Parts: sequence; C-alpha cells; structure tokens
Amino acid sequence: MRRIALALAVLAWGALAAADEAVDRLVAALLGDTPLVSDLRALTDEVGGRPTGSEANRRAVEWGGARFREAGVAVTKESFPTEPWIEKSASARIAGDVSFIPRAVANPFTVATPPAGTSAALVDAGFGEPADFERLGEKTKGAFLLVETHELLDIEGLFREYMAAAAIEQRARVARALGIAWMSSRPHDLLYRHNAALGPKNDLVLVTLGREDAGRAVRLLRGGKRLELTARIELESGLPRSAENVIGEIRGSDRPDEVVIVGAHLDSWDLGTGTLDNGCNVALVIDVARQMKRLGLAPRRTIRFALWNGEEQGLYGSLGYVKKHAAELDKHVMAASFDTGTGRIQGFLTGGRADLMPVVDEFLRPVAGLGPFTQVNFATPGTDHYDFMMEGVPSLMADQESATYGPNYHARSDTFDKADARQLKLNAAIAGAVTWGFANRDKALPRLSGTEVEAIVEKTDLKGLMQAFDLYDDYTAGRRGRRP
Ligand SMILES: [Zn+2]
Repeated sequence: MRRIALALAVLAWGALAAADEAVDRLVAALLGDTPLVSDLRALTDEVGGRPTGSEANRRAVEWGGARFREAGVAVTKESFPTEPWIEKSASARIAGDVSFIPRAVANPFTVATPPAGTSAALVDAGFGEPADFERLGEKTKGAFLLVETHELLDIEGLFREYMAAAAIEQRARVARALGIAWMSSRPHDLLYRHNAALGPKNDLVLVTLGREDAGRAVRLLRGGKRLELTARIELESGLPRSAENVIGEIRGSDRPDEVVIVGAHLDSWDLGTGTLDNGCNVALVIDVARQMKRLGLAPRRTIRFALWNGEEQGLYGSLGYVKKHAAELDKHVMAASFDTGTGRIQGFLTGGRADLMPVVDEFLRPVAGLGPFTQVNFATPGTDHYDFMMEGVPSLMADQESATYGPNYHARSDTFDKADARQLKLNAAIAGAVTWGFANRDKALPRLSGTEVEAIVEKTDLKGLMQAFDLYDDYTAGRRGRRP
C-alpha cells in the first residue's frame, strides 16, 4: 500500500515537474530573441492606424492571419456585425470679436455637419458641472459648449475623463445644446479620439480642440468677447457593417473541448498608429502562440489566441464571438484581455470573482521574478474580457502600470517610439505563464449563473461603469450578458 502510494506520488511529481518544465521553457523562449518587436513595428508603421471598416483594418486582419500561419498555428477569421465610424475630414473656425483657426478633430460617433459646416455661438461651459449649466441658463440652447478639461496624466485620469464626459454629454442633451467643443486634455496641440458616451446613438456635434486653442477661447470668452464656432465634419460613408476577428488556435491534447482565451484587439483609432492601444498586445498574443508552437508544447486544453476587432467602436468583435460560441461558453474556462500598452503587468483584474485571485497567484509563480504581482477583484467594462465576464466566464484583464499609456491614449502620438520593448517582452512572459496555467490546471473554475453575474453588477462599481459606457441598457434588456 505504502509502496503504491509512493509510486503514485512519484508519478504525480513527475507529471508536475514536466508541467513546470514546459512553462519554464515557454517563459525562457518569450524572454529570448523573438519577432515580437519587429511584428509590432510592422503592424504599426506599415499597416498603420486601422479603425474597423477601413482598408487598413482589412490589411491588419490579413497581417494577423499570416503571422499565425507562419508560426504553424491554425487560424480562422470570424465575422461579426459592427457599427463603423470613421472621420473623413474635420476642421473648425472661431470667428466673432476675434477670429482664428483652432486645431480640431471629430470625436468618434459625432454626427456629421453639412458640407459648409455648422455655426453657433461658443459659450463658456467651465468644466461642464451642473452649476455651469445653471449659470448659462437659456444660453446653452443651440450653442456649442466649450468645456475645459484637466490634463490627462495616467489611467486613473482617463477613467475620470470618460466618467465626466458621459455626464456632461447628458447635461448638454437636456440643455438642448447643438454640440460640445472639448478642450483637449493633452498639451502641445495633441489631439485624440474620445468616444461619445452613447456611441452610435449620439446626436450631438462633438469636436475636440487643441488645448492651447481652447484655452485661448476660454480666456477670450471670460474677457467678454463674443465668439462663434464653425465645425465642419465629414464622415466616411458606405462602410461595411461587418468585420472579422482573427482567431489562432492550439488544440488541447486531452481536453480539447475546454477553451482558454487570450486576446488583444487588432483595431485602433487612426490619428496615431495604434501602438500602445493596442498593437503591442496583439504582437504579445501572437508571440505567445508562436513560441508555444515552436517548442512543440501541447496544452491540455484548447487555447484560442484572439485578435479582436471592432473593440474601439463598442467591443463588437468579442461580443460577436460570445454570441457565435454561446453553446460552448460552459466549456470556456478563462478569457484574458491585454489592452493597456506596454506598462508593467502588476497583476490582473479578476472581474468580481475572488475565487480567481489565488489561481492567478499560483500561475504567476514561474515568473515571480518579474513581479511583484497583486490581483485586484475589480469588474470593469474597459475592454474585450467584458462580454465573457458578463456571460459568467472567468475573465481577466491585465492590470498594467500607466507608463506612457494615458497621455498617448487614442492620440496622434500613439506611435511605435512610445512602446517599451523591454517591458513588452517581460509582459509576454507573464502572459505566457498565466495562459499555460489555465490551459493545464486540473480543475476549472465554474461559469457563473445569471443570478451570480447580476450580483456582481449590483454589488460592485460595475453598474455605474456600464452606465457611463452605455452598456447597462443592453444588459437589462437581455441583449448582452447572462440574465437571471
Ligand atoms: Zn484598447
């Protein structure tokens, strides 16, 4: 009896050691010389900015598929419905007591203007607080509201900006403004794309003006000058209403029907070249697949390496996947998203599931030297793990240091030179270790029921965040997420 127990223990230890050896080899390979950075350079410099619906986006899909095929990873393209929005041109003019041409960009999902533009009084709406609307009274009607912003320094600032903007847009609608001219939250004339809170349902004219130009206009208005803003926005028309995800797959050796997802979104906005958001993590996901395949590592579960599309315009690619694979979701054991540039991964957000935290701790052990790591049990709609989380599938979002992410977010400056190549390599090793852990661990965490998902929505900050991103109505109406 004892001898059998000992023999079993030796066997079990042997299996464990083999698993440990596999993850160590994967981590070492990812830290070694790989095409990770040259892939990122090619995607960003050669394909460039790639909003869903654009020709560059279609080239990015081909590019991603080719990288998987070169690596010997099986690949499929899966189409999904989307709501494309692409600026064709945008400009603004300030006239009245003082005239000048501010730098301007259209906000995603702004309405277009007539070809000659739309002109209206420009009024000082401060930071868009309720008191500012009270002070303005009837003056908001049919006007452009000039709204100041705080300078954006980091990811916390970015979240504050989105939350504030959603409320201000709502106030502007109630106050029957024609539109909002936002002061850019980035200095030195830097422009970026800040999504309208209501997405495709938006009905306001929304532009962002260069911070310095907007500051000048604020000072003029406060000095008693009268100004009028003309905004001219032309949108691309006839865009395709479907796009494609690129899914690389390494099939599981003994539980092929169980699926681990590791994903990053391939689409980007178009002012810069989508390096931090999110070419860097696309290259990371591809490299994890490539090194696994190159080493001949056979995960027990199937791993799907997802290059999502349509993310920036409303998380449409991952939503499309969840709808298409609805019947298989009970067998999806984890879906992870990487979407915050090249800042150090300091742990993972576990989406309201405390049971995930010790599991992730364990899977990070092979890369403990790249830590420290702390898991945070926070549920956020920020990126493509969202629809998995809302379907009760265990989900993770990499929690990364802000680094260069905030100031370059959706901006003209989101280019290859902003990537921290060394940290991106380290992040790939971290992603590899966690992916390997979920693909090989004996026991999988259960999918949550609709009631359990609802409890997370109601008992965390998630509900407020869903409302700010216009996702809550779709959830309560049963169009998105698992209902009780
Ligand atoms: Zn992103």
